[in-house]
Amino acid sequence: MSDQTVQTDVLIVGGGPAGALLGHLLARRGIDVLVAERQTSLEREFRGETIAAPSVVTLRRLGFGPALDGHGYLPTEGVTMRMEGRRVMHVDYRRFGVGEVPIDIPQPALIKIFIDAGQRHRGFDYQFGTTFTRLIEQDGAIRGAWLRRRDGSSVEVRARLVVGADGRFSKVRHAAGLTADVQQMARDFLQFRLPRPPQWGQQAELVINRDRHLVVLPTFPDSLRIGTNLPKRSLGALRKAGFDAFRSVVAALDPRLAPLVQQHLRTWDDTSFLEIFTAEVPQWSRDGLILVGDASHTCTPILGQGVNVAIQDAVCLTPVIAAALAADRAPVVTSADTAEFVTQRQRHKAFVTRFQRIQESALAQGGTVGVLLRRARYRTLDVLPLKYRIFGSVLNAPHQIDPADLAEDVRTGPAVGTGD
Ligand SMILES: Cc1cc2nc3c(=O)[nH]c(=O)nc-3n(C[C@H](O)[C@H](O)[C@H](O)COP(=O)(O)OP(=O)(O)OC[C@H]3O[C@@H](n4cnc5c(N)ncnc54)[C@H](O)[C@@H]3O)c2cc1C
Repeated sequence: MSDQTVQTDVLIVGGGPAGALLGHLLARRGIDVLVAERQTSLEREFRGETIAAPSVVTLRRLGFGPALDGHGYLPTEGVTMRMEGRRVMHVDYRRFGVGEVPIDIPQPALIKIFIDAGQRHRGFDYQFGTTFTRLIEQDGAIRGAWLRRRDGSSVEVRARLVVGADGRFSKVRHAAGLTADVQQMARDFLQFRLPRPPQWGQQAELVINRDRHLVVLPTFPDSLRIGTNLPKRSLGALRKAGFDAFRSVVAALDPRLAPLVQQHLRTWDDTSFLEIFTAEVPQWSRDGLILVGDASHTCTPILGQGVNVAIQDAVCLTPVIAAALAADRAPVVTSADTAEFVTQRQRHKAFVTRFQRIQESALAQGGTVGVLLRRARYRTLDVLPLKYRIFGSVLNAPHQIDPADLAEDVRTGPAVGTGD
């Protein structure tokens, strides 16, 4: 197969929420962008579908409201925490005063909204079935990358910036020699879906019994997305014990789900495994390269922040790239150009991770004293207005996006989904 050489302003490796939104926002500003996505379609594996409220606000400000409304989504009104069969805490998302609540929309639909909007701009090119293989380096700076297409052909892409938006196991990060401090959490996760009973409503639930728990998320259009924790490296033993034993554990954790589990959870193929870790990446950039989304900071699933931080990365990075390209100080966008972005985003990510670790260690309590203390702590918190301050500090932190950062994107962007 013949090789090809392509020139673009920005090459984004990975067309997930971070890469697709960033590509769209850059193209909106007249910047040429190639998004290389390894998958051949959007029907990707089971993953994050919750968009936190502040990101919903941001997406609406950017003009995505009609497209979100046109597709449909499920608002989540609050979360209830149950421990050892008792309701101990409830957080009503409508009381945060953000103007939106978290919404659930399938990730393929969200990415398609970004791609469709991007394709209205001349400079936007999203290529499926295109895999990053290696970086092109010259005089210590990244000058592009080699990609491989499904037909076996290779493409040499020359770019002024390569963005690694290729997720939690980022190959771009590795190729650039940027190291990740991977911290395994004590437990992993197994997820599955069940039909949502009509009486369930639009509330998320965290159902805890000692050191086992279920996260139950109402999911668009009519299901429940359920995750249950398991001790690290115990999937093999769990499978050996048989699927019925697993179903019994789930049904015992939340007897309300028992009939649904019996009827709809049939085989291990109905479940998907998620390894839980955080990845701290001290250095996110080099001259000619920057990491965003999960590639630069992998969160745990607690409070569903992964898509949220990916969206924020894209929104905050867009004006930085635009300014650096316009200033034309160097052949590539340098790490000095992106330094402030990195500092600001690392601070936010560290805060989210700290909060997630505290929650994770509370969930891991198995001993009687620890379980009693945990219940007492959350019960006390439940009656204090402080709980809205604490949860709001994480859930609504994205409000730190400066509306001034969005001004240019709002001005340049067409009203998405309105058929302009
Ligand atoms: C099972 C699961 C459930 C989750 N639940 C939630 C949730 O409820 N809420 C939430 O906020 N977050 C959740 N997350 C996390 C969330 O999905 C991620 O944080 C979010 O998708 C990160 O977006 P991203 O664009 O940075 O990376 P990703 O979504 O991982 O996208 C990276 C993209 O890069 C592509 N890619 C990888 N390697 C290459 C390569 N070599 N060449 C080209 N392309 C490549 C991949 O195919 C992928 O499309 C969940 C994650 C998982 C795995």
